[in-house]
Amino acid sequence: MKHTNTLRASVLAAVAAGAMALAMSPALAATAVTGTTAPVVEAWAPTWPTTTTELLNGGVTGSGGLDTTAWFQYGTTTAYGSTTANQDAGTGTAQVGISDDAINLLPGTTYHFRMDAKNSVGTTNGKDGTFKTTAAPVVTTSKPAVEAWAASWPSDNGALLNGGVTPNGLATTAHFQYGPTTAYGSVTADQSIPAGTAQVGISDNAVGLQSGTVYHFRTVAVNSKGTTNGADGTFTTTGTTPPVYTLPAGGTKIGTNGTNGWVVFTFDDGPYTGTPYLLKELAALGLHAYFFDVGQQIQAFPSYMQAEVAAGDVIGNHTYDHQSLTEATPPLTSAQITAEFTQDNQIITSLGAPAPTLWRAPYGETSPAVNAIADGLGMTGVYSSGNGVVDSGDWVTDANGNPDASAATITANVESGMALYGNGTKLGIDLEFHDGNNIQQTINALPAIVKYLNAHDITASMTLPSFTKYN
Ligand SMILES: [Zn+2]
Repeated sequence: MKHTNTLRASVLAAVAAGAMALAMSPALAATAVTGTTAPVVEAWAPTWPTTTTELLNGGVTGSGGLDTTAWFQYGTTTAYGSTTANQDAGTGTAQVGISDDAINLLPGTTYHFRMDAKNSVGTTNGKDGTFKTTAAPVVTTSKPAVEAWAASWPSDNGALLNGGVTPNGLATTAHFQYGPTTAYGSVTADQSIPAGTAQVGISDNAVGLQSGTVYHFRTVAVNSKGTTNGADGTFTTTGTTPPVYTLPAGGTKIGTNGTNGWVVFTFDDGPYTGTPYLLKELAALGLHAYFFDVGQQIQAFPSYMQAEVAAGDVIGNHTYDHQSLTEATPPLTSAQITAEFTQDNQIITSLGAPAPTLWRAPYGETSPAVNAIADGLGMTGVYSSGNGVVDSGDWVTDANGNPDASAATITANVESGMALYGNGTKLGIDLEFHDGNNIQQTINALPAIVKYLNAHDITASMTLPSFTKYN
């Protein structure tokens, strides 16, 4: 056995020695002197680091004719502690590459390693080398982190709110709060952010704002560890500062035991900038009302429509964009007319209000076909003038399109209209107003109108007489 090994070693040595060795005679090769030194080892750089393993590499140069064995030691100190399996490095004199895995390592940790080799002459310990395992992702499970970003795209009545949310390893929801003060008051819909560790950007629209006004906003994120409120940010809507409304002093609440008939207050075309003031004045006078709201106006002032509902008032349908349903060129199709109703209703109900059961035609312009479509949607039409409806004329404008009806004119219009229907006929009258850009004068007229009603022993009601509706 030993002889065979020696013979093979000599042949390998001959190959390694090249042409000169090949020229030797077999007799000379058989008696060649074998190596006389311990192996030489050379550490190479480790490769393929992971969080728990590393491939160790090195080169071994044997001493001709002697069996060479190599291995690695590794550990967190130069005392090592772990050893790879022995590997056969042959009996040659050429450098042989050896690799093996260091396993069961800790993530993100520096390790020492060394290559060792031995033959019958001795053992060689290589130089110490180091490597570091890759770090494992650190998943914290904590409250989300939020970062305020600047709002963008400010318009007269809105802006795009932006923020960054880091979910910190847990499924998170986030939204924005916004309003004229740091009490905020308005909130966007919740957005879902999957569990993760990277920051995620969210955006949503602030709507229903007033022009030329400073608003506050912040990002709020919630996961199972808690809620994080972001830092306050501000932005300013474009356009001119909105009009400042005032409420008339004094006024007496409407009587509740009027024995001489009743009136129903209706306000068309809103919501608009003065809606909150109108609601305050109505409350001061003890009045409730129907609001025939326009879809586009609700989109501009959603919180104002919600304030109408919160005040106990009732929302009616006044179409999506207030165009004439019968006078358009080319004429609206049935599908377009249907959409004018359904879009408005969808906006109204999406904000939490009951689906309207009453509608009023823009400009009072309707037709049997339009009425039939509304009927099919479960809504009854209310007249705009005549038929027990008194038009206050608060919408009248001058030649330049500016509001032209004073509070005194509005009051006079209402009183003369009621007289026309005979104050005290006990039949009920619809007093029709408009929640638009002349609302200050309408608000100013309300105390005098209530004074007139009290004087005539007429009460206020939410019951619209059947003759004020289309059959
Ligand atoms: Zn209208």
